[in-house]
Amino acid sequence: MQFRPVFDTKKRPILVAGPCSAETEDQVLETAHALAGQGIDLFRAGIWKPRTRPGAFEGVGKIGLAWLRRAKEETGLKITTEVANGQHVTEALRHGVDVLWIGARTTANPFSVQELADALQGLDMPVLIKNPINADLKLWIGAIERIYQAGIDRIAVVHRGFSKYGEVKYRNVPLWQLPIELKILFPDLQILCDHSHICGKSDLLHEVAQQALDLNFDGLMTEVHPSPANARSDAEQQVTPWQYREMTQELIVRKPAATDRALLQYLLESRREIDALDEKIIEMLHERMKIAERIGGYKRENNIAIYQPERWREILENGLAKGTALGLSEEFISLLMKAIHQESINHQSAVMNEMHIAGHTG
Ligand code: PEP
Ligand code: MN
Repeated sequence: MQFRPVFDTKKRPILVAGPCSAETEDQVLETAHALAGQGIDLFRAGIWKPRTRPGAFEGVGKIGLAWLRRAKEETGLKITTEVANGQHVTEALRHGVDVLWIGARTTANPFSVQELADALQGLDMPVLIKNPINADLKLWIGAIERIYQAGIDRIAVVHRGFSKYGEVKYRNVPLWQLPIELKILFPDLQILCDHSHICGKSDLLHEVAQQALDLNFDGLMTEVHPSPANARSDAEQQVTPWQYREMTQELIVRKPAATDRALLQYLLESRREIDALDEKIIEMLHERMKIAERIGGYKRENNIAIYQPERWREILENGLAKGTALGLSEEFISLLMKAIHQESINHQSAVMNEMHIAGHTG
């Protein structure tokens, strides 16, 4: 696939902003005027809202498109809204919407994405595709392919995080490696970070926005409302146009790649140090596995089960205590220790089976 850019490739960061939902004509116009003065690139507002449970505010519907069109006429801003079926596409196009966006719940459903692709067939319309709510890179790529196959090549993606049961810090966990992997596969795909839906609360917005820029994202999608506390959807994560201005002004835009010679040299040396450490880690793991194999032989001789729950608990607790004291996250340490422990079990099983087979044939 080869994509044409949706946004100006020289501008960084690209700023897409606007309310979660269009609620009244005044609210839409007030927000649009405030944001137009800040030089944003695209004005967003949801007209049809995919709510988790019925009875919540499901958007104002078609009438909101007229408000968006008025906002566009008065401010000159380009406008975007979420579409989830063929009818939405037809209505949005009829009202002069410039860019369509596909929401996370829709991306997760190939039937819906295909319906959108069919409605877009042969049109030259830019489309933003949010990641699916579940952490499935192939599903995200599948949605991009369906839209691309309809003849749309002005596609950009929006990373809005992934649903995870029991998560506390974020509303949707970022799992940065997924969007990064997508960017590696398709380098000419522009990528925005919808930090509003990742954070779920406004006080985290700045931190996650900066992280996205540090990871070389092209821009941000942010929910902005004149009076967040009174918003009819996503009240906790929206900010006022004034707070938005403050946040965007504080963001530091880094160069995509280092050009300065001294800096390049420094990077090169640091990377060598990292490579050497990685090599050491692998060698130490190899040592660890050799010991595990020795224990495997002993367990076999004495007929002891490989998996010892108390021992595993001890290993994990030691790892967590040491790791967190050194500033490593609990999530990382437990993943790492689980992987190491699993590999040890595999090595021990191999030793036991080998001896077992040897015992029978010998
Ligand atoms: C939105 O942008 O308002 C929205 C509903 O987002 P998502 O599809 O990412 O949940
Ligand atoms: Mn929202």
